[in-house]
Amino acid sequence: MRSFTYERAASAADAAQAVAATKGAKFIAGGTNLLDLMKLEIERPTHLVDVQDLGLDEVEETEEGGLRIGTLVSNTALSAHPKIRSDYAVLTRAIQAGASGQLRNKATTGGNMLQRTRCSYFYDTNMPCNKRKPGDGCAAIRGFSRQLGVIGISDSCIATYPGDMAVAMRVLDAVVETVKPDGTQRAIPAADFHLLWGDTPHIETALEPGEIITHVRLPAPLGGQHFYSKVRDRRSYAFALVSVAAIIQDDGTGQVAFGGVAPRPWRLPEADAQLRNGAAAVVRVAFADARPTEDNKFKIPLAERTLAGILAEARG
Ligand SMILES: Cc1cc2nc3c(=O)[nH]c(=O)nc-3n(C[C@H](O)[C@H](O)[C@H](O)COP(=O)(O)OP(=O)(O)OC[C@H]3O[C@@H](n4cnc5c(N)ncnc54)[C@H](O)[C@@H]3O)c2cc1C
Ligand code: SF4
Repeated sequence: MRSFTYERAASAADAAQAVAATKGAKFIAGGTNLLDLMKLEIERPTHLVDVQDLGLDEVEETEEGGLRIGTLVSNTALSAHPKIRSDYAVLTRAIQAGASGQLRNKATTGGNMLQRTRCSYFYDTNMPCNKRKPGDGCAAIRGFSRQLGVIGISDSCIATYPGDMAVAMRVLDAVVETVKPDGTQRAIPAADFHLLWGDTPHIETALEPGEIITHVRLPAPLGGQHFYSKVRDRRSYAFALVSVAAIIQDDGTGQVAFGGVAPRPWRLPEADAQLRNGAAAVVRVAFADARPTEDNKFKIPLAERTLAGILAEARG
């Protein structure tokens, strides 16, 4: 690991200023993703700004009847929160499908949203990777792509956003709240937070340099039945081949987002509108522009079967 300097920030604005002031600085929260990448020298921050003292570790109720989750709320605490379990169960299920108990104890809400979108070649510094080094090429495009993206990808990178929690955040229409280094605040809808990167796969989110996540806001409860179904190569401790987050109302309408298929949690309003017509209709619309490889084309029928299982369970 390369040497770096370290400080603990006392407020979100201080943290944002500290990261903006030092070239190559990064925030660190639970460290479960960043430290892994630093040990491999894939991430080489010159300076770490630790956000653990910011006090943003509460879940509060909002005036609109929703919840505001502090960025430092751990994945374990969030999934166990009584209001999350009762009114946003899709989030509890998605978080509990991710990583391991130990990792979830340490991982934070903001850090989870910002885990790197990556593939196995990204970890192998002997292989070309546009995400690690812009302009280097992509080893995955003609390589082993079984785990990788089928839609929203580009000729520069076909990695998928690997997280579970953000797929539930997308189906819930969450909003990410931030502070910029100049102190101004922003609210970024989950729909716009993870980018479709085109030829700049190293830029994964809408955050500007030094901008810090302070909260993630949930709307008032949406009702309905909540589902998160994750299909993977092992029953635990593995990223999704395909995951489906869905909220289904009594009349069969609802919303659905897919994980493991694209650079961001994949949701299209026009696909939501097909829910009453069944899983095949939803998937036909959601994946109309898919560009799968021979290795990963199985993901599209897998998404359909996974959603069909959810819809059957919702019907009872
Ligand atoms: C073996 C393993 C298996 C895993 N399996 C899964 C899985 O199945 N599903 C899943 O969803 N996840 C999985 N993960 C990922 C895990 O959930 C993430 O590592 C974790 O959520 C990251 O949170 P953190 O607080 O530790 O982030 P950190 O590692 O501290 O930070 C991650 C990134 O976010 C930035 N950051 C952190 N906080 C902020 C903030 N407030 N504002 C701006 N930037 C910030 C950091 O600079 C860094 O770039 C796995 C991880 C490991 C190591
Ligand atoms: S798919 Fe993306 S992350 Fe993987 S090697 Fe290609 S550019 Fe790198």
